[in-house]
Amino acid sequence: MGKLVVAIDGPAGAGKSTIAKLVAEKLGYVYIDTGAMYRAVTLKFLNSGEAFSEELVTSIANKIAITFKPEPGCNHVYMDGKEVTEDIRSSKVTGEVSEVSAVPGVRTAMVDLQRKIGSADSAVLDGRDIGTVVFPDADVKVFLTASVEERAKRRYLELKEKGKEVKLEDIIHDIAARDKYDSERKVAPLRCADNAHYIDTSDMSIPQVVANILELCKG
Ligand code: C5P
Repeated sequence: MGKLVVAIDGPAGAGKSTIAKLVAEKLGYVYIDTGAMYRAVTLKFLNSGEAFSEELVTSIANKIAITFKPEPGCNHVYMDGKEVTEDIRSSKVTGEVSEVSAVPGVRTAMVDLQRKIGSADSAVLDGRDIGTVVFPDADVKVFLTASVEERAKRRYLELKEKGKEVKLEDIIHDIAARDKYDSERKVAPLRCADNAHYIDTSDMSIPQVVANILELCKG
């Protein structure tokens, strides 16, 4: 069989990375967390201490080296050789990532990288524009979503478990704001591809969603 691409898109907190990683593990495919790539560019920009400009973030995106080392339970992310798995999830990065990822030059650089990695092997990619822009001819396209309340509740429990002090209202606000920004931006806005399978995970367990997608992959 030739190389296959599985595209999983959807809004913040829909469980994309958890699901995509499990699907990739089951199929023995490479897993590419494209949100982590935009987060790494954002972290490098914040570390630079410079004021935001499109030129600066584009130049960072053109030079950055991003690699993944997936392990059961954790997908380790490296930026220029340094592990940034935790750092890219900070609230500071989360607060800035939508602005950075809306810059056309940043998207061109990341999409190039994603296509390179995704064409080398069979791969599962998750993000916002995989089935619409990065791999419009993907073999399987999924749009994964859930209500804002359910997505915020999941994120809240996940952060609580890590011992972080967070307020549910703040997370609802953050997720709703990111949904709006990601859906309304000019370049590659978040939307369900015409031929994507739409899955609302509000009342589904993780194994149910994974089984559902694996079934789609059987063709
Ligand atoms: O998926 P995650 O929440 O880690 O993504 C972080 C941000 O990166 C999103 O809110 C979005 O602004 C951006 N993103 C994107 N295109 C992708 C993946 C993520 O613009 N393919």
